[in-house]
Amino acid sequence: MRDKTPAAEGGAPVRASFLPFARPSIGETEIFEVVETLKSGWLTVGPRTREFERVLADYVGVDDAAAVNSCTGGLHLSMVVLGVERDDEVVIPALNFASAANHIVHLGARPVLVDVDPETLNVTAELVERAITPRTRLVVPVHFGGRPCPMKEIVSLAHERGVKVLGDAAHAIGADCSGQKVGSMADATAFSFYVTKGITTGEGGMVTATEPGLVDKVRTLALHGMSRDAWKRYADRGPWYYEIREAGYKYNMNDIQAALGLTQMLRADEFREAREAIAHAYDVGFFDVDEVTVPAPFRQGKHAWHLYPIQIDFDALRISRDQFINHLLDEGIGVSVHFIPLHYHPFYRDRLGHTRGDFPSSEHYFARAISLPIYPSMTETDIEDVVEAVRKLIAYYKR
Ligand SMILES: *Cc1c(COP(=O)(O)O)cnc(C)c1O
Repeated sequence: MRDKTPAAEGGAPVRASFLPFARPSIGETEIFEVVETLKSGWLTVGPRTREFERVLADYVGVDDAAAVNSCTGGLHLSMVVLGVERDDEVVIPALNFASAANHIVHLGARPVLVDVDPETLNVTAELVERAITPRTRLVVPVHFGGRPCPMKEIVSLAHERGVKVLGDAAHAIGADCSGQKVGSMADATAFSFYVTKGITTGEGGMVTATEPGLVDKVRTLALHGMSRDAWKRYADRGPWYYEIREAGYKYNMNDIQAALGLTQMLRADEFREAREAIAHAYDVGFFDVDEVTVPAPFRQGKHAWHLYPIQIDFDALRISRDQFINHLLDEGIGVSVHFIPLHYHPFYRDRLGHTRGDFPSSEHYFARAISLPIYPSMTETDIEDVVEAVRKLIAYYKR
């Protein structure tokens, strides 16, 4: 039996070596392919990027996909193509990262926050419906933690009202609902390949769509609005020729990132399954701890398990959530919190005029939430250590 006294109180920590909150799985194949790309002499957007787009489109079950340099960039370009303009309203969950919200603001539109379902932490068609007005142009649901939103209901409700749907699938590569992959249900969907996400290209993203023509427009806008990609120019009229069809941006992916992405795609399902197994081990590990609420089960399909957020009943403990996190760090366990509700940030609080209490489910969750480590390279011992550290602190600080 290990020390029952928390490290913060002078006891021995659960772990001698710190377990990071997240860590990418980069193997020899990734390293080989990146080095091959460097040796090939073609480093910018080119054949590997195109191949990555085809592989991801196949995987998701759509015709085409556009690679970009981040999910944030993909969300921005999708909003442009879906017609978000000045004074439009865009509905987004309050429990959210800032990517979509920031670009809604840059477009001169207004983010309209909605609360999430307290069980799933996702928006529902019902929650979205209450926020729709004649000015609503778009809704951007987040597949929180990798759990698919009820997209069928959300898309049909939105389309009935003349509103488009853009999925924020930053957490949800490989997730599906009743056999339909995330990325194949909304008008457009943006994925993230940031270093902590399901697969990584260091930084990167991809846009898929059911809206005809959207992917091509995104691809063009991602590279200055140029009519041709650089590598095609060389094969075609000549290296010097291009046409600007509209004022674009500079959001393209490059072939070094795509080489990484292509090798990561080979293991996407394996990664998801590893995360799912860790989630299951945590479920079992906290089964008999009354103070811990684990993520609600998902039975309609595949959960991507990007996050495993537990909620702790801090009324039953003598320490706060923030102290609990510091104590977990002292035990050698890296943890995080996803997310600080948007209306708690000074900019959105002031811009949107919200106060605490406006989104009770998001706020209640945030006050109690801790995201535990969940990534494919975690060992059984790592998982046991996380469970032990959480249980140790709860047992010690129980009122
Ligand atoms: C990580 C994340 C993003 C941003 O992804 P980038 O690829 O870093 O731009 C957007 N939305 C959510 C919900 C995220 O977690």
